[in-house]
Amino acid sequence: MIIENISHSRIDKIDFNDISFGNHYSDHMFYCKFENGKWKNPIIKPFGDITVSPLSLVFHYGQAIFEGMKAYKDKYGNVFLFRPLENFNRLNSSAKRLEMPLISKSLFRDGLKKLLSIDKKWIPNNYGQSLYIRPFLIASDGKLSANPSKKYIFMIICTTASNYYLTPLKVKIEQKYSRSADGGIGFTKAAGNYASSFYPTRIAQEEGYDQILWTDSSTHSFIEESGTMNVFFYIKNNLITAPANKKILNGITRKSIITIAKKEGIKVKECNFSVSELIYNLRKNLVKEIFGCGTAVVVNHFKKIGYKFKNYYLPNISNKKRISFFLKKNLLDIQHNVINDPFGWRFKV
Ligand SMILES: *Cc1c(COP(=O)(O)O)cnc(C)c1O
Repeated sequence: MIIENISHSRIDKIDFNDISFGNHYSDHMFYCKFENGKWKNPIIKPFGDITVSPLSLVFHYGQAIFEGMKAYKDKYGNVFLFRPLENFNRLNSSAKRLEMPLISKSLFRDGLKKLLSIDKKWIPNNYGQSLYIRPFLIASDGKLSANPSKKYIFMIICTTASNYYLTPLKVKIEQKYSRSADGGIGFTKAAGNYASSFYPTRIAQEEGYDQILWTDSSTHSFIEESGTMNVFFYIKNNLITAPANKKILNGITRKSIITIAKKEGIKVKECNFSVSELIYNLRKNLVKEIFGCGTAVVVNHFKKIGYKFKNYYLPNISNKKRISFFLKKNLLDIQHNVINDPFGWRFKV
């Protein structure tokens, strides 16, 4: 692998006590091209613009996928990834569905490891902070025919992330738009899934909500996800979440929360959960908590649910008593090497 080092690091300009998500990109990036059926010439170079033809298929037909993962430090400065093999496998399952070339494990692992070793000082030391890693794959073939590209670019970029203090969310149950359909690409991390969610999300925001609670595209009566998070309902001592079918994104945070909850003796139900059942339980004040989860936020709880112009409020309990906080802390403790990792999720870099 060729390494081009930056001449002046930007790290001294960063106040690690004041980072929000995605406002500081690390010094370097990983870049690799796919041509003539092969990935070739992987390189690490200073973070910066790339040049592609305006004909690149990514701009016209949207062949673009990505992953989101994080690197953490423990208090001794050791660096860990969290379940990176899961991201690798999901990247390739997205690639397969969008008719893009697969990435080899060695390319993914070596690129990531090398980049993290070069930009190690960008990984924050503080609990709850991390370096967010964004691997992505785009079609770069310069021709306008509506066929899968023959050329691609695979890159990895990194940005500082903090998620410890989050405001509770106001969420609207969507009755018109959908992010995902049967046979579609809902289970992939395709860029287009995000593009199509921006308009309905903006409408929800104009109505006073932060996010959408997505429902199934054919009947809008079953709950799927919220925004770009998987979603959990804590009702009568059961943790309920939609099954990881082809319409929801099979979140690594979701999977991990289910495993931790079960180990802690919390009952978890992965089942179709209807809007009417949710509203019934909200009316009866039986819903203790609702929360979304994903790599970026880890866990973020909801305070208000909107449905057909009515709002339902969730109980205002202290964070210390929240099951969502308990699960979040457990997960962060594993990620930051504060507690044992009984599941083998930490991956030392
Ligand atoms: C990335 C993503 C998630 C969360 O997945 P994690 O692996 O936990 O980060 C959930 N829903 C959607 C739509 C996503 O894109």
